[in-house]
Amino acid sequence: MAATATERKLLIDGEWVETGDWLEVRSPYSGEVVARVAKGGAAEARRAVDAAARALESPLPAHKRAEILVKVAGLIGRRHEELAQTISAEAGKPIKAARVEASRAMSTFTFAAAEARKLTGEMIAMDGAQAGEGKLGFTLRKPIGVIGAISPFNFPANLVAHKIAPALAAGCPVVLKPASQTPLSALFLAELELEAGLPAGWINVLVGPAAQIGDVLVEDPRVKLITFTGSSEIGWGLQERAPRKRVKLELGNSTPVIVAADADVEGAATKLAGNAFAFAGQSCISVQRIYVERAVHDAFVQAFVPKVEALVVGDPADDGTDVGPVIDAGARSRITEWIDEAKAAGATVLAGGLEGELIRPTVLGGVSDDQKVSCEEVFGPVVIVNPVDSVAEGIERANGTKFGLQAGIFTASLDTALGAADDLEFGGVTVNEAPTFRSDQMPYGGVKESGNTKEGPAWAVREMTEERLVVIQR
Ligand code: NAP
Repeated sequence: MAATATERKLLIDGEWVETGDWLEVRSPYSGEVVARVAKGGAAEARRAVDAAARALESPLPAHKRAEILVKVAGLIGRRHEELAQTISAEAGKPIKAARVEASRAMSTFTFAAAEARKLTGEMIAMDGAQAGEGKLGFTLRKPIGVIGAISPFNFPANLVAHKIAPALAAGCPVVLKPASQTPLSALFLAELELEAGLPAGWINVLVGPAAQIGDVLVEDPRVKLITFTGSSEIGWGLQERAPRKRVKLELGNSTPVIVAADADVEGAATKLAGNAFAFAGQSCISVQRIYVERAVHDAFVQAFVPKVEALVVGDPADDGTDVGPVIDAGARSRITEWIDEAKAAGATVLAGGLEGELIRPTVLGGVSDDQKVSCEEVFGPVVIVNPVDSVAEGIERANGTKFGLQAGIFTASLDTALGAADDLEFGGVTVNEAPTFRSDQMPYGGVKESGNTKEGPAWAVREMTEERLVVIQR
């Protein structure tokens, strides 16, 4: 039986499970309780891994996996508004952005279905070596095994989709732990997966103490791969504790963008104003640092600031809202402290301030590189704009970070664009597009502290399978 709208249960081995212990999911905007969710710990996590390991003993053929994934995409389509409302209610995401996320989750399942149907190994040119003459060699792609998936609060549906959909495409059962603040979209998707015909044990969803559930995923040898999206500290900690597993990390960033003197300044200002503040800056590739060549710095600021000030701040449930709350009071105080620190160190506030409990989109000028709002991940509605003497200086300052997820450049010169693509030390570089851009089939992932993998179904499926070599003597 599916759980009710306001009381949700854990999913273990195809059953909705109550534990007697409940976690409250509250609206980040109003503080009201959105739902109560059954809370499980290590014992439930072990049962979930048992169920997933049993599921693996009855493999699903690729066409069946693809069919289920396509059905899930269709079911999301049918219940699109309900999923968008769930995302918005639990994460405080403006409803128009939540609708985009629901559509993207559909697209992630659709791309994963295509990968399931074409998952193959490779032919090996055996007679390339004398010893291989007369032999036929090829590889099979085998599911790696049970996958432990841990997801963050900021894209509670689509980042769950980026874990579950490729895992199922690869033939791997999943034990998922969504963020405690936003478990409802994950449970909603799990319900659709069961409805699409996914047999018991293939998807298990646990909500509860992260360390306890994480420990089971780290320690149980049947969990062969942990796919984690979240903060750098927790991600790299998991990797250290599980040196014999594949631990695939999608972590944070301090996203830079360079506006060259030859750029379409008005166009860059429009794209960046929209993208620096989407979901109140709580995206791992939210624009955070803008370096503008001095010749167009003032023109950029004059174009950018009014566009930022025109963003509508308010209730995420309203169709007109562009910027809602940050996830909780702790995040709000941390972000406002970092802004105050930058101001005390000489930064100029070009836009921003508080509106009740909400942080207005904040633009800071004259911020030194050692300020937290520059060198750490703000994960809030704050952007800094600094002049640079050249594109080369912009690239150097963009690279001057421990992170390396995505970066961008606005320029009219192909040479400048290609030079930046070569020199920016990031997993992805956008040209004449905000580095907040992501489409779900792209290989997406960072270098340096930002991670060690690429998501996007085609890439994730490879991570979640192992190649087995077959050599045949003819
Ligand atoms: P977080 O605090 O690191 O939490 C992420 C997940 O890890 C949650 O499910 C959390 O559970 C769990 N967790 C916490 N402690 C754990 C432990 N000891 N063992 C195992 N799991 C543990 O991150 P967040 O605040 O939700 O998300 C924001 C971060 O995610 C930002 O740094 C952002 O850049 C990053 N992010 C990266 C990408 C990307 O693709 N690169 C995409 C989106 C977000 P609880 O909720 O129960 O604590």
